[in-house]
Amino acid sequence: MSDYADVLIVADQIQGELRPITFELLGAAHELAGKLDVKVQAIVMGSELGDMPQVIIHNGADEVFVVDEPELKEYTTLTYRKAVIATLEQMPRPPHIALFGATTIGRDLAPRIAAYFETGLTADCTELDIGEYIHKGKADPSKTGTYKNCLYAIRPSFGESLKARILGPWKNPQMATARAGAMIPYQNTDTTRQGKITRVKVDFDSSDFRVKVIETVREVSTSVDLTQAKVIVSGGFGLGGPEGFDVVRDLANVFTGSAVGASRKTVDAGWIPYANQVGQTGKTVRPQLYIALGISGAIQHRVGMSNSSTIIAVNKDEGAPIFQFAHYGIVGDLYEIAPLLKERFGEAMRKEQSAEGATKSV
Ligand SMILES: Cc1cc2nc3c(=O)[nH]c(=O)nc-3n(C[C@H](O)[C@H](O)[C@H](O)COP(=O)(O)OP(=O)(O)OC[C@H]3O[C@@H](n4cnc5c(N)ncnc54)[C@H](O)[C@@H]3O)c2cc1C
Repeated sequence: MSDYADVLIVADQIQGELRPITFELLGAAHELAGKLDVKVQAIVMGSELGDMPQVIIHNGADEVFVVDEPELKEYTTLTYRKAVIATLEQMPRPPHIALFGATTIGRDLAPRIAAYFETGLTADCTELDIGEYIHKGKADPSKTGTYKNCLYAIRPSFGESLKARILGPWKNPQMATARAGAMIPYQNTDTTRQGKITRVKVDFDSSDFRVKVIETVREVSTSVDLTQAKVIVSGGFGLGGPEGFDVVRDLANVFTGSAVGASRKTVDAGWIPYANQVGQTGKTVRPQLYIALGISGAIQHRVGMSNSSTIIAVNKDEGAPIFQFAHYGIVGDLYEIAPLLKERFGEAMRKEQSAEGATKSV
């Protein structure tokens, strides 16, 4: 047995559907657990969860703790808090690391769990790793020593100009929330993968129901979620006005599974909704292709999209910072370049589709 306890994730599900962040947490947990030589555990909470525990096992968990109660149909802070605490208290030993999504639910839940167990929590991480920490003990000599296999919770800081590595090795679980889109989802989904499922019973009392959900109204969106899009075409202030996004949409429509992104300056100007913003105070994205039209490449934008596999930047200023990290840079007026890109990519997509069609008909 390893000297270290396991790595736990808290699955994020809404209305019986696991959210993509869960698979990202499983991917990150698997990496960390591999380095520690420990197992991946998960907690999933809700009502009528069906085969969700199995799906979590197929996606990298070794053990899933299931709290399946009618009281957990809708997320409320007090009931979910109680379910996580009850599960952790029933474990033979607390996990070494506990990860939550930096989603509305995770951001609400994780600090309450950390406060209950009087442990640390790093919010909104973009990277996670394992490493050593030597504490020289100036501030607190009682803690002097070498701490092995600590969680390195890494997140942008100081206006995103630096990456801070934040550690809390004094107490387990060492906790972090992970920004959606920042971690690589578990890659080796295997429907024959076996794991242990442990059902947990929670005794709710009336004090857990001080908040009641009367109705949940979900926004219906026809556009692709930015964090899941394979291709993103983003517009910046160089568009010159809200109508400039027609050109952005036009180019995006060439690709299947594409979405429209934006810089904050365009959002602040009211040209496009906040939901489209990429960057520090917007979404973190990781598409296969990111096309930036008229975006300067400020650090706050860069941190949200620099993990894209291929970045193409179009900017009329050859000194624009975006050219320092784009894989392909085109110096020119976006209103001349975007239609050319549309034509070329359109042609390539049509060829790809007809090749796929030909393969299917063989
Ligand atoms: C705390 C904080 C958080 C922030 N969070 C975010 C965030 O989440 N996301 C974000 O994007 N920003 C964020 N910002 C703002 C960020 O610092 C920049 O101001 C912003 O990204 C700039 O947007 P932009 O590149 O569209 O505009 P600009 O910097 O004005 O750049 C426009 C670019 O378009 C080019 N251009 C102009 N006309 C054309 C044309 N016809 N063809 C081609 N190119 C042209 C120009 O050369 C220029 O490079 C944040 C700032 C702070 C302080």
